Amino acid sequence: MDNDLSYIDENLRRIRYRAGEAAAKAGTSPRIMAVTKTVPPEAVNHAISLGIDLLGENRVQEFLSKQDSYDKSAEVHMIGHLQTNKVKYIIGSVTMIQSVDSIRLASEISRLSLARGVVTDVLCEVNIGGEDSKSGVAPEELRALLEQAAQLEGIRVKGLMTIPPPTDSDVFLGRMEELFHKLRDQAVLGVSMDELSMGMTHDYAEAIAHGSTIVRIGTGLFGARDYSK
Ligand SMILES: *Cc1c(COP(=O)(O)O)cnc(C)c1O
Repeated sequence: MDNDLSYIDENLRRIRYRAGEAAAKAGTSPRIMAVTKTVPPEAVNHAISLGIDLLGENRVQEFLSKQDSYDKSAEVHMIGHLQTNKVKYIIGSVTMIQSVDSIRLASEISRLSLARGVVTDVLCEVNIGGEDSKSGVAPEELRALLEQAAQLEGIRVKGLMTIPPPTDSDVFLGRMEELFHKLRDQAVLGVSMDELSMGMTHDYAEAIAHGSTIVRIGTGLFGARDYSK
């Protein structure tokens, strides 16, 4: 292992400063999530030692191989695309699943949560840019999904998550903000609109300006990802 992890201190200082400026302007206090894909547990734990209390996991297999090494003081959210047959491996180990984009997935999370005697918080992932390559529910189908998900006793819907297209990210962050407020005003029974998870390394300050409550940062904190390991 590379013992010099001080670059993480430096990166986190910069992120906190910029996020703090944006949040002061917006009058909010968003959480900073550390996105851990490809990052060794030593580096993740170093971030936790600096005060990071929220981790974002993309891949079930990778999470399962690393979770025992993580300092348990941080909360873990699943943020990656999740297949229904993998849900069983993570229920009870993550406090939120941010990537719910179908009633089938929501039902499976609910069923397995009830079986384990827990209720799992979820966000609905929205494909705000309408990109073929991305998961997420289309904005037009979101309300129907929320209404159906609200009926499930093993989950609590807490808000929305999105990955906007990298180009024109600001336009799409604005659309998400509108959609989030519209749904909050419409008040779907059994659904709360507390969390709006958006913003990554390249656009977290803009996302905070558009009302994000959770920014998900990987490379900006841990450096470029090395997929070869
Ligand atoms: C990888 C990833 C991030 C972080 O991306 P960076 O550009 O490295 O900050 C955020 N959200 C999701 C869903 C991701 O998969």
